[in-house]
Amino acid sequence: MQATNAKLKQGRGVIERYREYLPFSDSTPIISLGEGNTPLIHCAQLSKRVGRGCDVFVKNEGVNPTGSFKDRGMTVAVSKALERNASALVCASTGNTSASAAAYAARAGISCAVILPAGKIASGKLVQAFAYGAKIVAVNGNFDDALRIVRELGERDGFVIVNSINPDRIAGQKTAAFEIVEVLGNAPDFHLLPVGNAGNITAYWAGYQEYYARQRTRPERQSNGSTRLPAMIGFQAAGAAPIFHNRIIENPETVASAIRIGNPASWKQARVAIEESRGAIDIVSDGEIVVAQTWLARHEGIFDEPASAAAIAGLFKCRDSKDARYSFKEIPEGSRIVCTVTGHGLKDPDAMQEQMEALIPVAPVTSEVRRLLGL
Ligand SMILES: *Cc1c(COP(=O)(O)O)cnc(C)c1O
Repeated sequence: MQATNAKLKQGRGVIERYREYLPFSDSTPIISLGEGNTPLIHCAQLSKRVGRGCDVFVKNEGVNPTGSFKDRGMTVAVSKALERNASALVCASTGNTSASAAAYAARAGISCAVILPAGKIASGKLVQAFAYGAKIVAVNGNFDDALRIVRELGERDGFVIVNSINPDRIAGQKTAAFEIVEVLGNAPDFHLLPVGNAGNITAYWAGYQEYYARQRTRPERQSNGSTRLPAMIGFQAAGAAPIFHNRIIENPETVASAIRIGNPASWKQARVAIEESRGAIDIVSDGEIVVAQTWLARHEGIFDEPASAAAIAGLFKCRDSKDARYSFKEIPEGSRIVCTVTGHGLKDPDAMQEQMEALIPVAPVTSEVRRLLGL
C-alpha cells in the first residue's frame, strides 16, 4: 500500500510532493498538471567528453507538461493566485512562461493575458499559448519592454503577475534541486544552467541551501539532505549578457530566445547565488550554442532548445577553453556535474529550418533513395 501511495504522490506534481517546503496552507487549492519528477539522466558520452572520471547528468526539464521548467513555478504561482481570488494572470514572456501560464490558467478556469515581444517568440511556444486560449498581445519592443507593461497591468484588482518576479514561481522552481539531491543522495559538485531573467539560478540555489540546512538541523532526514553545496555556474548568450558585463544590454540578440534578456529581473539574487556558491557567470556564442544543441541530440538522444544548449556549450567551454571563467582544470577528478536542460527542442523548430528546407523529395524509386543514402 505504501509503495502505491508513494507512486501516486510521484504522479501528482511538485505541490503534493513538497508541500512542507512551499507556502501552502491546507486550504490552498492545488492547480497541477503533474509537473516535476523529471529524469536526471546520466550521460555517458558527455562524461567521456569531460573526462577526469567525472559524471555528467542532465536534468531534463523539457519533459514537463508544457515542455519547460516554468511549470514547476507556475503550479505554485497559479494555486496561490486562486487562493487570493485572482481572476486573471498576466505575464511578459520570451515564450515558455506564456505557454505554461496559459495552460495552468486554463486548468484553473481563469483568464490569461500574455504580452510578447513581436517576432521574438519561437513558433512552438506561440502555438501553445494560442492552443490554451490565452489573450495574446504582441508589442514592438523587446522582453524588457513587455515586462515593464506587465508590471503596470499587474496593479489592477484581480490580476496576478506570473513572471519570475512573483516569489511563488521561485518557490516552485526550487523543487528541481530537491529532486536532484534525492536521486544523487547529495548535491552535485557543479550545477550548470542557462541564465535569462535569472529566476532559475536563484531558485536552484535556494533549493540546494534548504536541503543542506535540513541535513544539518535534522540528521534523521539523511536521505533528504545534502552535506555539500554545488558551485552554481550560469551561462548567458554572448549577445545578451548583462550579468556577465555588469550593465544593462539595450538590444539583446541571440538565437537562444528564452535567454534574450537585457535587464534580468533577479539580477541581484543571481549575483548572490554565484558569489555564495563560489560559482561563476560566463558567456557562450550563438555558434557554440548551436553546436552544443546538435551534439547533445546526436550523442545523448536529448533534443533541447537553444537556450538550454547554452549550459551544454558552457560545459564544453569550461572543459576546453582558456577563456572560461570557471576552467575545469581546477575540478577534482570524479566530480559530479549536473546541467539543466530547461526546455524541449520541439519548442523551437526554426532552429532546424535550414536542414528541413534542404530535404528535397525524389522519385519513389529504390535506386534514387540508395543514391541519396550513399549506399
Ligand atoms: C525561462 C527559460 C530560461 C531562463 O530562465 P531564467 O529563470 O529566466 O534565468 C532558460 N531556458 C528556457 C528554456 C526557459 O524557458
